[in-house]
Amino acid sequence: MTGHTPAPHTPARICPNCDGFATAAIPSGTRHPDGTRVLLHVDCGTCHGTGTLPLRRRLTAAGVVVAA
Ligand SMILES: [Zn+2]
Repeated sequence: MTGHTPAPHTPARICPNCDGFATAAIPSGTRHPDGTRVLLHVDCGTCHGTGTLPLRRRLTAAGVVVAA
């Protein structure tokens, strides 16, 4: 088979706890004077609202820390 080889699989950096939906808007049950709902915005506790995982740090053979 000819052609280019596919890029090696890179693991997704999406947060496994919130699946990328890092902030939830939760209605508090009360309303503003204009009738809109009061929402509480809560960030994911694992990724702290980013939706992604931090890059892993690893050491190379030379002892240099790189992000993977
Ligand atoms: Zn998350």
